[in-house]
Amino acid sequence: MAESPSCIFCRIARGEIPAKMVVNGKDIVAFRDLNPQAPTHILVIPKKHVASLDDASDAELLGRMLSLAAAIARQEGIAKSGYRTVINTGKDGGQSVDHLHIHLLGGRGMTWPPG
Ligand code: AMP
Repeated sequence: MAESPSCIFCRIARGEIPAKMVVNGKDIVAFRDLNPQAPTHILVIPKKHVASLDDASDAELLGRMLSLAAAIARQEGIAKSGYRTVINTGKDGGQSVDHLHIHLLGGRGMTWPPG
């Protein structure tokens, strides 16, 4: 899907809205969550607009997003202690921004099950 003019994450990817960028790649960006739920809370998104995991058809891109999340976890120093990656999808999944994103959370112990 093409980029969406009003989507907040498309606007971050285009540099129209400030964000604490961690990685600005060719087709994937990662930036710090505005409302962090852990000492490290980073969002990994595709630059192109994909509304949710349910709309994602590019397996290669999804794989690279996950690999990038793992690389960022190492870079942030949380890989050894462990971390959580989350993709909320749709209403019941708790998705609030309709642009596919992987949450990378770490720096504290996580509980299970998630709320
Ligand atoms: P979700 O609820 O899974 O859709 O996650 C959306 C996430 O985006 C939340 O954790 C928000 O805190 C975060 N968020 C919303 N707007 C921004 C923004 N402008 N910059 C960084 N993170 C944001």
